[in-house]
Amino acid sequence: MPNAILEAKNFSAGYTYALFAPVDLNLFEGELVSLVGPNGVGKSTLLKSFAGILDPWSGELTLCGMSMENFTMRKRAQTVASVFTQERVPYGMSVREFISLGRIPYSGFLDARTEEDEAAIDKAIASVQLEKFVDRGVLNLSDGERSRVLIARAIAAEPKVLLFDEPTAFLDVPNILNLFRILKTMASERNLTVLLSTQHVDYALRFSDRIIGFDGKGFVREATPQEMNESGFLGWSCVE
Ligand code: ADP
Ligand code: MG
Repeated sequence: MPNAILEAKNFSAGYTYALFAPVDLNLFEGELVSLVGPNGVGKSTLLKSFAGILDPWSGELTLCGMSMENFTMRKRAQTVASVFTQERVPYGMSVREFISLGRIPYSGFLDARTEEDEAAIDKAIASVQLEKFVDRGVLNLSDGERSRVLIARAIAAEPKVLLFDEPTAFLDVPNILNLFRILKTMASERNLTVLLSTQHVDYALRFSDRIIGFDGKGFVREATPQEMNESGFLGWSCVE
């Protein structure tokens, strides 16, 4: 069994009430895991808790064997990188400049970048196939390109865990496929843990190592895509 990188015990998330019954969830090295379920069940809220932006409603989160509460902000940002749905890219930055923001957990806002920073940025750019776009204004991109730029910024931080909220929103089928392939390859080749939420359940079932499913009735469960599909937990099945 690979090492659990992120462990959630008795965990629930929410703002003014628990959005789902307490659950144990584990994320392992090198796996791609998808959060699927209807709108409003708490996928983004769970991701915020895992990113350390929002305290869990209940339970405890452990990152690399250490309680999340004991992480400094900088150390946590070096370990977990996230991209949320509402994020907008700023005016006046090139693709490369924007992706280099991912190095802030190492360099701070003002420090000059080291060779190591530049190498991490180059690697991030290559892993999402953006080499041709580095000098482009970050606003002058298609939806597919923009979503890869945001992902590259997170990868540039060289974290252990990557959290992506609805990275396939607004993408067409070829771009959805491309994105899942990129993330799957990245997870296995770099031994990273990728957790994403998506409404593209069919692709999530096809590409993910495991699924964290929300049934829309306040319950959350983790399972392999096949188990999830066959159990009917999500309220529907791909199997005729
Ligand atoms: P999902 O991502 O699964 O669509 P969310 O996690 O965004 O769902 O939202 C779960 C619930 O939390 C919703 O009922 C939503 O209205 C509520 N919610 C989301 N953001 C906030 C917030 N900042 N403050 C209070 N409630 C919120
Ligand atoms: Mg959401």
